[in-house]
Amino acid sequence: MGKGSIVLKSVDQISLMQEANSIVSEVLTMLKGLVEPGITTWDLDKLAEDLCVRRKARPAFKGYRGFPGSICVSINEEVVHGIPSRRRKLKTGDIISIDFGTEYKGFFGDSAITLSVRKVDPEITRLLQVTEESLNKGIEQVVAGNRVGDISRAIQEHVEGNGFSIVRQFVGHGIGCSLHEAPEIPNFYQGERTARLLPGMVLAIEPMVNVGTHKVKVLKDGWTVITRDKKPSAHFEHSVAVTEEGPVILSRREK
Ligand code: MG
Ligand code: MG
Repeated sequence: MGKGSIVLKSVDQISLMQEANSIVSEVLTMLKGLVEPGITTWDLDKLAEDLCVRRKARPAFKGYRGFPGSICVSINEEVVHGIPSRRRKLKTGDIISIDFGTEYKGFFGDSAITLSVRKVDPEITRLLQVTEESLNKGIEQVVAGNRVGDISRAIQEHVEGNGFSIVRQFVGHGIGCSLHEAPEIPNFYQGERTARLLPGMVLAIEPMVNVGTHKVKVLKDGWTVITRDKKPSAHFEHSVAVTEEGPVILSRREK
């Protein structure tokens, strides 16, 4: 993932990606209204897929390397790539991260949010806030002439400055007519030798932030990533185009 050369998109291609991402944001906004104690992650998955198909898009994660769901749904200590399940009901105090992608007219959209189920611990509320803020700090660096490392550094500084840790094992990515393209977008700084940002690049920036250790492991289902210390984790993602006028968030949701 994220290997190979960086593909620049034309203005017309970016507007198709905007359409793919507007379906993603419509689905996430709908799911946000459904996250309540008692609903299963299976129900959320089916409703996401239904709306996506009605919009004439394909749920991009379904079947990706054999992934069984349309959404990735990760609760509490689950970081990313959780599998929807009929047995998993949400309960008050949970946090749920929902990651969704579409393929539409040959282009991909990808975005994620983390939501609290009713009232959660104040420290968890702060985790969600800091994670979303760190995404926004990263997006502010999406300026032609900057480097990928500027995005990484802005995210890492905000997360660690607030006492949380940033996952290193999974990273953001370029996106276009593939779900995962070059360049990789790490959420931690790896030195100056990273790609220069050019107009026409589209980047899926996705910090994964943990309360405790940054270390994670994959469960026996082969997909679900959890924190090693079982402390909670949050995830936010936007697909963002680099333009002459600065960052354009293709997956922006209405407030
Ligand atoms: Mg995603
Ligand atoms: Mg992604």
